Amino acid sequence: AKSEGRNLYRFFEPGMDAMVQARRALETDLEAALPHQEFDLDFQPIMNIESGEIVGAEALMRWHSPTRGTVAPDNFIAVAEETGLIVPLGEWALRKACATAANWPPALRIAVNVSAVQLKSGGFARSVISALAFSGVPASRLELEITETVLMDESETVLRTLRQLRGLGIRIALDDFGTGYSSLGYLRRFPVDKIKIDRSFIRDIGNRDTAAIVRTIIGLGAELGITVTAEGVETEMQLDILRGNGCVEAQGYLIGVPSKAADIQRLLKSRALH
Ligand code: C2E
Ligand code: CA
Ligand code: CA
Ligand code: CA
Repeated sequence: AKSEGRNLYRFFEPGMDAMVQARRALETDLEAALPHQEFDLDFQPIMNIESGEIVGAEALMRWHSPTRGTVAPDNFIAVAEETGLIVPLGEWALRKACATAANWPPALRIAVNVSAVQLKSGGFARSVISALAFSGVPASRLELEITETVLMDESETVLRTLRQLRGLGIRIALDDFGTGYSSLGYLRRFPVDKIKIDRSFIRDIGNRDTAAIVRTIIGLGAELGITVTAEGVETEMQLDILRGNGCVEAQGYLIGVPSKAADIQRLLKSRALH
């Protein structure tokens, strides 16, 4: 057994080493990707269920690496958060998203994902105000999507920043709603304008219990005066159930996949409210 243990140790050591090296290589590539302009934004339309009109779009980050190919955000956002790169990267996304939305019909909103790390870093509100001013997009058209992790440590900076942003007329959306530990607690303590029901609930909406949860979230939104958006809507059946329960907005492959700025602009001009 002793020699087995040693063998295991020898087996693991180079493996761990390779993991650390791969991780370092990823950090190095990520660091260079911003100055090398390897990042891009796709935009996914959001529809008002009742009217069928497109009311806005969410900006989703893409990394086109010359060596790695296109890397999905789930595979680099967390690393960017750990290294702090998310702060300049997030600021770039905000400016790019606002500049893009400046060309859309003026009633359309632009939703941008914001990391907890960005909100906790000083100067976030200032960078938002600057992105709006630079693009000429009014605050009322901007929606910032945050997840529960932003609210978890209840830092004064975060609370103050969120209040300041809302004071400017920017909307705050609670992303991935229902997946965290105490979504309801946060709703009570933090002022939000929108909740986005996580797509795992929409995927399983055919299940009776899940349907009951979705109905409850929609009812909660109505009671609190909070817009409810369903994420990950892929089928007509899902959309019908959501419509039947009075869900306000829907987003997902059924309505439109994340697309290049030029393609989304064409769609928005043809289907948007005017
Ligand atoms: P998210 O904010 O929940 O974004 C929705 C994700 O669901 C996107 O994945 C989108 O492509 C995908 N999606 C949309 N409709 C459907 C559907 O009908 N079915 C399925 N199966 N998926 C759908 P994506 O683009 O890979 O982004 C993953 C996550 O990465 C986002 O989740 C968000 O948390 C994060 N992210 C993306 N862009 C940014 C960014 O600019 N900043 C930050 N901090 N995070 C970002
Ligand atoms: Ca989001
Ligand atoms: Ca989400
Ligand atoms: Ca998510």
